[in-house]
Amino acid sequence: MKRCLLLLPFLVLLTGCYTVPETGRKSLMLVPIGQETQLGETSFADIKAQRKVSNDPYMTATVTRVGTRIAHVVGNALPNAEWEFVLFDDDTPNAFALPGGKVGVHTGLFRIAQTDDELAIVMGHEIAHVIARHGSERMSQGILLAAGGVALDVALDDKDSSERQAWLAAYGVGATFGVLLPYSRLNENEADEIGLRYAARAGYDPRAAIDFWTRMKEESEGKTKPPEWMSTHPSDDTRIKKLHQFMPIAVEEYELSKTKQ
Ligand SMILES: [Zn+2]
Repeated sequence: MKRCLLLLPFLVLLTGCYTVPETGRKSLMLVPIGQETQLGETSFADIKAQRKVSNDPYMTATVTRVGTRIAHVVGNALPNAEWEFVLFDDDTPNAFALPGGKVGVHTGLFRIAQTDDELAIVMGHEIAHVIARHGSERMSQGILLAAGGVALDVALDDKDSSERQAWLAAYGVGATFGVLLPYSRLNENEADEIGLRYAARAGYDPRAAIDFWTRMKEESEGKTKPPEWMSTHPSDDTRIKKLHQFMPIAVEEYELSKTKQ
């Protein structure tokens, strides 16, 4: 802890902040890019060893095709990224991203995402988390918290008190520091906004997001409890409303992508 405190001013001077592509937001960034890539790689290797990787050829090919196509058009925004798209045998409709370019998709997502356009909405969102470096942003906020709660407000100012509790609990038990921290709501909105543009830029129709999230909402309403991962995400109604706001720019990107094909 003492070492961390000593290092802190140096780290802030050295790295300080990151300008998020597309939105231009300045985020707190104390994690060097090389370290981020390495951490993502190690954690993803662990996850692959612990969980069952699917051998379904159709779904695997679809995840690779859609992920590669989006990464191809947006990759330069994070030149260090080492992209890897892996399908996991898991019935929950979920996807996740780790720093540095690692994206996992559950087979259960295919129940909800019925076309490449719809899968691209989810993968665009996860790729946006990677390029916006949201995982490292959460770690940076954690580093400051660990250094004495200096930036408690910065870390938690966009959360209500129950979410703060949940976040702090996650932080407290986070043995794999950082990687498992839930994203903030601000991060989620930003990933929706950027992800929609990325999917569109790669030639996927961003309007598929509305159908997808409506179906996701029906799925979660049909259950007594929403899927776990949904709890850190905005409510579906809020999300769909915001997606409508982000849509005009994304549709422009989509039209532009067609002229480039
Ligand atoms: Zn997300």
